Amino acid sequence: MAIATINPATGATVKTFEPHDAAEIDRRTEIAHSAYRALRFTSFAERGAWMRAAADLIETEVDEVAQIVTLEMGKPIGQAKSETLKCARSMRFYASNAEGFLAYEPLDDPSSVNASRAGTRYEPLGVVLAVMPWNYPLWQVVRFAAPALMAGNTGLLKHASNVPQSALYLDSLFKRAGFPAGAFQALLIGSAQVEAVLNDERVRAVTLTGSEAAGRSVASIAGHNIKKAVLELGGSDPFIIMPTANLEKAVTTAVTARTQNNGQSCIAGKRFIIHADVYDQFARLFTQKMEALVLGDPSDVATQVGPLATESGRSDLAELVNDAKLQGATILTGGSIPDGPGWFYPPTVITDLHDGMRLVLEEAFGPVATLYRAESREEAVHIANQTTFGLSSSIWTTDQGDEDYFVDTLDVGAVFINGMTVSYPELPFGGIKDSGYGRELAAAGIREFCNLKTIWNA
Ligand code: NAP
Repeated sequence: MAIATINPATGATVKTFEPHDAAEIDRRTEIAHSAYRALRFTSFAERGAWMRAAADLIETEVDEVAQIVTLEMGKPIGQAKSETLKCARSMRFYASNAEGFLAYEPLDDPSSVNASRAGTRYEPLGVVLAVMPWNYPLWQVVRFAAPALMAGNTGLLKHASNVPQSALYLDSLFKRAGFPAGAFQALLIGSAQVEAVLNDERVRAVTLTGSEAAGRSVASIAGHNIKKAVLELGGSDPFIIMPTANLEKAVTTAVTARTQNNGQSCIAGKRFIIHADVYDQFARLFTQKMEALVLGDPSDVATQVGPLATESGRSDLAELVNDAKLQGATILTGGSIPDGPGWFYPPTVITDLHDGMRLVLEEAFGPVATLYRAESREEAVHIANQTTFGLSSSIWTTDQGDEDYFVDTLDVGAVFINGMTVSYPELPFGGIKDSGYGRELAAAGIREFCNLKTIWNA
């Protein structure tokens, strides 16, 4: 795929970029490696000051940065600003908490291991390669970069080929904030170059956020090289509504959960599993609200849903919907590509799904909601757990028994009760099954790319 900014609202190519050649990749890897040797011996206070300076910069530049994001991947401008500000919050969170998360942990009773003193500490690993997607072009990167840099690692970013200006902005941000040259750099490369970078001895680990196919490939290369990998892959999260739920709130939140970021979020509620007692009411209210959303130019503040980020993403989504239509699914609203330029797809609600339709098991990466009727909580969990994914979930109930049952039985990395899934710097984030492994954010996230060193002293 060419490295280029292509405006998804018009389909026009705005700017193309020359990919880095092997010599440039080698040069950047070497600088990253030398920067690691310096950064690891700087203090948390120094790194924290640079990280806070980066937070101040991105906050000051929010309007300009948000425009780049909206131009490159089409999210509504207000959401691009929120994403930018969330990055600043996360940077400050790690600036304040990294030292505590990585502090020396003494063994309570060293005599049990015949020592006068024993314990563990966390040390950085070295250069970490980050292979990142376009859907949150700043946030996905920062939630890796903030903890990694605070731990004393350095980062090489291979960003998605359609967000090069976002990548270059981040490349400049950490430098301007004061981090040593080479602490964080973008590599303008295609996915075919990832293997060579990961095979390089100077690169010690990899984190990938993206599709299952990319995850399988990168994890196998990392495995071959015996290098640590964290994978944040796709999801098809269940959003379960029980009879005791506050239905009005559940409907409003369901619309946001399905359509935020133009429906292209790994943790979006994608499959709505509704108890039979409230199914008809939910379906009617939800469809009305989905239909009423304003689809259009993402740089217009009135727009609620913009275009999909890529033409191929829209074709993939349309194929999934067409497959369900051909097999007898009912389209309550949306369901076909509108005329005109840009890669728009309307908010869509589909019901009467059955096994054999691709939409039942695959991820719909766009504003397409599927509705399932469940007669009991057992049936709801059966539907929820039937995909190969296991990222997050949202359950809506005020019954304690139902709540406990869902928390116990959903095969997922997170359960959000009476709210939609949101990533917070303070909470671990990640999935199970084909949604990947490892965790980002919180203490767990910063420790992923650290050497847990045991120290035993006679
Ligand atoms: P993608 O095609 O896998 O792209 C993601 C990144 O991986 C891009 O930088 C891409 O580079 C690179 N890539 C693709 N194939 C590769 C390969 N074989 N080897 C090495 N690198 C490769 O994913 P996408 O379709 O853009 O993003 C959407 C997917 O990401 C969805 O499934 C979504 O659920 C998932 N996602 C997960 C999370 C999470 O935290 N779990 C968060 C956001 C998104 P190029 O652009 O150059 O191809």
